[in-house]
Amino acid sequence: LIRLEQVTKRFGDNTVLDHLDFSVDAGKHVTLIGPSGSGKTTILRLLMTLLKPDEGTITVDGQRLFPASDKEVREVRKKIGMVFQQFNLFPNMSVLRNITEAPVTVLGMSKDEAAERARGLLEMVGLADKCDARPTQLSGGQQQRVAIARALAMRPQVLLLDEVTSALDPELVAGVLDVLRDIARSTDITMLCVTHEMNFARDISDQVLMFDSGRVIESGPPEKIFTEPERDRTREFLSAVL
Ligand code: ATP
Repeated sequence: LIRLEQVTKRFGDNTVLDHLDFSVDAGKHVTLIGPSGSGKTTILRLLMTLLKPDEGTITVDGQRLFPASDKEVREVRKKIGMVFQQFNLFPNMSVLRNITEAPVTVLGMSKDEAAERARGLLEMVGLADKCDARPTQLSGGQQQRVAIARALAMRPQVLLLDEVTSALDPELVAGVLDVLRDIARSTDITMLCVTHEMNFARDISDQVLMFDSGRVIESGPPEKIFTEPERDRTREFLSAVL
């Protein structure tokens, strides 16, 4: 569903991604792990078209994301939802409106249908009683669960998760990860996650990719990567974070 071929991204003379190839099959859950600065977040930002690569091609569901025209990019973007480290909710809108805004304005959904779906999604993330609250009245963990519901409201084929629990107080992390485990189990959405939560990665991933200096140095099912990694670099990284 997602395919990166020979993707290179530089910031000045810092080559962050170096002729990177990888693909994610539809319905799979893939996790990117690796040291800070290895280029994981850059990949998600390329897929969100927040950045452009210097070289290479990116396709999603057979449609070009790079190189591509603005129109092609707009079409592909509709297939992709993203949840960031910072929740980025609209502070002046109710929780419900945060979720219905894009389906109504971008997808042309009726307000009633969008609201009904938003209520269902809020129930799924355990916040059915918070429809009318403002984001500032919620805890960080609750705000992040609203952000997840907001991403799902666009019915994306792909959900990109960028260190979604890194900004949360430790006691709020589990609630957010439980919601994501639930989504991984109960939907056929394709997930690409960057996370430092190794237990979560082990639970939900079909495949784990170990990054170092802009390259995938090792990949495989979580049982293999976490228990018998082949590369010394992977072993060192895991012993530092586990
Ligand atoms: P972390 O786990 O710390 O988020 P990461 O693996 O996600 O790390 P990236 O955020 O992808 O790493 O960053 C990779 C490299 O690119 C880093 O060296 C970073 O300094 C650099 N970088 C990222 N964004 C920019 C930017 N907008 N301008 C210049 N350099 C950048």
